[in-house]
Amino acid sequence: MIDAGDVLIVGAGPVGLFTALALAQEGVRVTVIEGEPSISDAPRAIAYFPVVMAALKKLGVLEDLDREGYHFQTVFQKAPALDFSATLSFKVLEGITYDYQIQAGQDVAARIACEHAVRHGVQVLFGHRVVSMEQHSDNVITIVDTPEGPRTLQSKWLIGCDGARSTVRKSLDIPYEGFTWPNRFVATNVYCDFTSLGFADGGFVCDPVYMAVISIINPQGLYRLTYQEDSALPAETFMERLPERYAFHIPEGVKHEIVAARPYTIHQRCASRLRDGRILLAGDAAHCTNPMGGLGLTTGFWDGMVLADVLAAVVRGEEDDSILDRYSDERRRVYLEISSPAASENKRMMEEADPVRRRQDCDNYQRMADSPELTRLAMCFPFKIVGDLLRPDSRWKDVADPLKLAGIEISERKSQFS
Ligand SMILES: Cc1cc2nc3c(=O)[nH]c(=O)nc-3n(C[C@H](O)[C@H](O)[C@H](O)COP(=O)(O)OP(=O)(O)OC[C@H]3O[C@@H](n4cnc5c(N)ncnc54)[C@H](O)[C@@H]3O)c2cc1C
Repeated sequence: MIDAGDVLIVGAGPVGLFTALALAQEGVRVTVIEGEPSISDAPRAIAYFPVVMAALKKLGVLEDLDREGYHFQTVFQKAPALDFSATLSFKVLEGITYDYQIQAGQDVAARIACEHAVRHGVQVLFGHRVVSMEQHSDNVITIVDTPEGPRTLQSKWLIGCDGARSTVRKSLDIPYEGFTWPNRFVATNVYCDFTSLGFADGGFVCDPVYMAVISIINPQGLYRLTYQEDSALPAETFMERLPERYAFHIPEGVKHEIVAARPYTIHQRCASRLRDGRILLAGDAAHCTNPMGGLGLTTGFWDGMVLADVLAAVVRGEEDDSILDRYSDERRRVYLEISSPAASENKRMMEEADPVRRRQDCDNYQRMADSPELTRLAMCFPFKIVGDLLRPDSRWKDVADPLKLAGIEISERKSQFS
């Protein structure tokens, strides 16, 4: 039997590793187990908004991510069929919060989180895949598969950060409520000089067929180009259709090199509860969204920060464990009322086919670009994802303060960009 400490975290994705680091900094003994032999480098999250940077600063990892990432300062929206293009600048946030966001692959963020967590005494075990768990009155017994055979771990608490297909969630029979979109997203990483093609750092290309996100990922000039296609088409032949999609965004003859490409099924889904006794859910295991607007990891990251704060207080005996039910209710609320509607609205806007609504969307965006106040509201929207911190002396209580001090009211917005 391996002693996994106070908290066993399943999944060494970014949510699991940042949550482990936050718990360890509160003096909690943590073990992270990951089914794969190493951190995944699949092309997924790339954007770390000021609201995440503020927490990364407190965790002591901001400098490392900042060094490896790209300082993203301008957001565009284009609708080529309407000859529309406008740009927002992060400069409007100067004096309020960070006036840029960091861009970096989520594997980079996870690696940095892992290094810091290990330095804080977290035990990270790769090649350990959870098979089953059993709850007792004062502990959780977890059975894992490893290349050397099955192993048993014991912890007081367990957090499932094992992604959208979470074994932890499924083994508790917790429904993952919501729906699957009829589109598939194809995320590609590509070297291409989009600046010379008239693109700002990143943003949305709106088109009923060719909608795409185009965004710089790192200082070496790597870009993410994500587009969607009908999920009825066979996933295994997506590369055959890619050149036609690319041709809409990159004119013939412009040099580019694709270095990664992967199709994703996309969902709006939320677990019906994020707590079952001594077991909790966070990140994609708790909820997932289409990635338009970069709110998936942002929401999961903040699940982890809020949970680390309240669970550490429970472990120290300072809070009753009923606060974990409030964690479940509040993080579901944040997903259902903020993240999911905003990401869905972004997707709607990008693929809108109705000519009147398309024109309105462009006019709204132009109004935003012309007004520093509206731009500020758009850039600050992700601060809503912090939600209620549940404890008056939460470690994170000053993170949302810059906005309040600036008198910014963002409650009525539907999404960042509309
Ligand atoms: C194309 C794309 C672009 C995106 N862009 C953004 C963005 O810019 N900003 C943003 O905020 N979000 C974005 N997202 C969403 C983001 O990628 C996810 O929200 C994020 O990965 C969730 O992190 P996680 O740690 O919860 O889960 P994951 O990253 O899925 O990690 C789960 C981990 O658990 C491990 N695991 C699974 N089962 C087991 C088991 N039984 N035992 C042990 N380990 C297990 C997995 O191997 C994995 O390492 C994007 C998603 C996609 C697809």
